[in-house]
Amino acid sequence: MTIPEPVKTILKSLEAKGYAAHCVGGCVRDSLLGRAPEDWDVTTSALPEETLAAFAGRAFPTGLRHGTVTVREGPLSVEVTTFRTDGPYADSRHPDSVTFTRSLRDDLSRRDFTVNAMAADLRGKLTDPFDGQADLNAHILRCVGDPEKRFREDALRILRCLRFSAALGFSVAEDTAQGLRDCRGLLISMAAERVRDELTKLLCGPEAAEVLREFSEVVGTVLPELLPMVGFDQHSRYHCYDVWEHTLHALAAAPAEPVLRWAVLLHDVGKPLCFTRDERGGHFYGHPAVSAEIADTVLQRLKFDNATRDAVTTLVTWHDRDIPRTEKGVRRALMKLGEERLRQLTEVKRADNLGQAPEFRPRLREVERGAEILDALLAQDTCFSLKQLAVNGRDLLELGLRGPEIGMMLNRLLCAVVDGKLPNKKSALLSAAQACITR
Ligand code: ATP
Ligand code: MG
Repeated sequence: MTIPEPVKTILKSLEAKGYAAHCVGGCVRDSLLGRAPEDWDVTTSALPEETLAAFAGRAFPTGLRHGTVTVREGPLSVEVTTFRTDGPYADSRHPDSVTFTRSLRDDLSRRDFTVNAMAADLRGKLTDPFDGQADLNAHILRCVGDPEKRFREDALRILRCLRFSAALGFSVAEDTAQGLRDCRGLLISMAAERVRDELTKLLCGPEAAEVLREFSEVVGTVLPELLPMVGFDQHSRYHCYDVWEHTLHALAAAPAEPVLRWAVLLHDVGKPLCFTRDERGGHFYGHPAVSAEIADTVLQRLKFDNATRDAVTTLVTWHDRDIPRTEKGVRRALMKLGEERLRQLTEVKRADNLGQAPEFRPRLREVERGAEILDALLAQDTCFSLKQLAVNGRDLLELGLRGPEIGMMLNRLLCAVVDGKLPNKKSALLSAAQACITR
């Protein structure tokens, strides 16, 4: 295990003062897996004030109540936390109190999963009282201690378990899976922000689709809107999967970015509500708008920021429209959506098509064609927004236009340029505007 120099320096300083100090948790897990840890956490027998004194001037009391001091060392900020055990959890979220201890084993026993309950000292010597290394090698997530008790203490662990399973591709040990299924009802009272963050990490994991398939009823506790999709037969010759299976296949095909994964998860969520059937088969008229409305409700409930909500609902609204396959069509779509959103829409449509069995995927070719045109247009510096238009409000003011007339005229000129009726040249645009005014 290669511990970064700044972290080693911190471990050494603590040891030199007679304290025990170890790297712990995610960084040990990830190092042993050969992955680069996101951040390095240190656990120590030093009490918080002792840690503060040991690193005077570069230690900050960032979470004293839980024994955490942040130490700045070179380019890194490292959280140094005193060995502790957690008191009772009144609200299935935070321990009401923590008790500091001088025992590493006690500290490890409060941690959630065996693979997260290993510590390594300066020399790389592992302390692993719960056989985390065996589970790591077997790719298994297992609670430290009795699963039901651990999930009852802190229900967030249910989502953490699914999130680690999706991110690492680990399976969930049988009793841990049983425990989290039995305790899923506790998720209802979790703070929306914490559910949001864990679900987003889950969705962005490489194995998200498998985890959602296996634990749909658990995820359905916090996202009940998903459940009607499960097993919903489409009665359509374009689909070989039910709505949920199609969604999961599409999800697996989408790039692992939060907006895209949320959009794909919710793109067909309104289908069950829109279902009709006639002699030609099943139909879902109007499902994008209904899905977008449900998506908005979900994202609002989970306290997503407006920008994410807006992006996801726009993508869901647009996901079923034909992708433009002409230059003019792509330019118009660019004008309405902007580059970022149109690129995201291409990804959502690609995933939606890839989410069908290979012999279906009717429109994949069209999506790729649209993407090629988009790339070509952007490479040419084509004009699709007011920002790029060769005239601005001031130019039109000089022509004598006032107030809202200016915005209206700018939009008319932009439409004409986007449609290829006018070149994006100042003189041409000004004379067109002048001609409109005098008419
Ligand atoms: P990540 O890669 O997401 O940072 P991590 O394992 O480091 O994964 P953190 O949330 O940073 O996760 O937590 C650090 C460590 O603290 C975990 O490895 C685990 O030992 C412990 N831990 C965190 N949250 C809990 C919890 N809710 N219950 C028990 N132990 C927890
Ligand atoms: Mg971490």
